[in-house]
Amino acid sequence: MRASFRLGKVAGVPVGVNWSVLVIFALLVWGLAGNQFPRVYPDRPGWAYVLAGIAAAVVFFLGLLAHEISHAIVAKRNGIEVDSITLWLFGGVAQLRGEARTPGAELRIAGIGPLVSLVIGLAFGAVAGLIALSGDERGLLFGSLAWLAGINLVLAVFNVLPAAPLDGGRLLRAALWKWRGDRAWAAIASARAGRVLGAVLIGIGLWQFFTGATVGALWLALIGWFLIGAAVAEERQAQVGVALHGVRVDEVMTPNPQTVTPDVNVGDFVDHYLWAYRHTALPLVVDGRPTGLVTLDRVRRVPADERAGTTLGEVSCRGEELVLARPEEPLLEVLPRLSAGTDGRALVVAADGQLVGIVSPSDISRAVQRSALNDRMSGR
Ligand SMILES: [Zn+2]
Repeated sequence: MRASFRLGKVAGVPVGVNWSVLVIFALLVWGLAGNQFPRVYPDRPGWAYVLAGIAAAVVFFLGLLAHEISHAIVAKRNGIEVDSITLWLFGGVAQLRGEARTPGAELRIAGIGPLVSLVIGLAFGAVAGLIALSGDERGLLFGSLAWLAGINLVLAVFNVLPAAPLDGGRLLRAALWKWRGDRAWAAIASARAGRVLGAVLIGIGLWQFFTGATVGALWLALIGWFLIGAAVAEERQAQVGVALHGVRVDEVMTPNPQTVTPDVNVGDFVDHYLWAYRHTALPLVVDGRPTGLVTLDRVRRVPADERAGTTLGEVSCRGEELVLARPEEPLLEVLPRLSAGTDGRALVVAADGQLVGIVSPSDISRAVQRSALNDRMSGR
């Protein structure tokens, strides 16, 4: 999830907001100031409802941030780098670089978030309770505090539902991992639970909507749909992890790929090389060392009348964008770099700097299929 606005850094982690948060913000303010507050606390001036609604929504998002920041801080304490924290349509995301190494670390990182939401909810509930006990008239301040207490408690409870990608899914994964000692199996099980929960939410949402409930029911269905998508992606990732465990880069790479020098112009390439070329990406090399990678997509984007005056080097992906790997490196360590890279391919470079192979998405899917076949034949 990309941040549209940067808010700053907390504990060294960049915190941002995606524009989609504005949708939720508007819905919350509209629901509180336009509906709930006037109904429960009538006869106040209009601006008072709007002010209370905006204040409650802002504090709600601060609580959401506190939840995500707590994940980030505990992740860092457990040796995992955190790239960013972003608030978006469905809440917050703390983007961790890497995975917990033990079930205990997983449990702590996932558990702290709902715990923080619970504490926030209880704190607002306590203050609202004090106001109620003091005998003052129950006004908009009480209403806002009570709403904040309720929504933070709902957040805590919803997040511990045992289904990935929710925090509860991570807790379930940690528990199953501890129990069976098999992290991948635990990840697949909790992702499947996520699919089930997503389907249940869609079912409840649609049922409520068609039996006359509000738009909130459709919102529930939308969250369910999002959960299913995320759970399916996690399950696939876990299965790839199982299939590629222990596989080295040089076992899956296409060795000694065809190459070309960066000074060849795009026109010559299209006229003379393309017909003989079987792949969709071509490494550029000088003296056997890779300097760039050009994909057919990049070549296609050069207008026909500019081809003669453009070299392959100019349209290639190079420098920082280029994903490099060592032949002996575990493939699973290269995958995150590949998915972050622009062209989805890694150039394999030996210790002496010479290009020895290329890893493409089709090499990886072939390796996954081969591993599935091996498992079936050995009866695992
Ligand atoms: Zn969380």
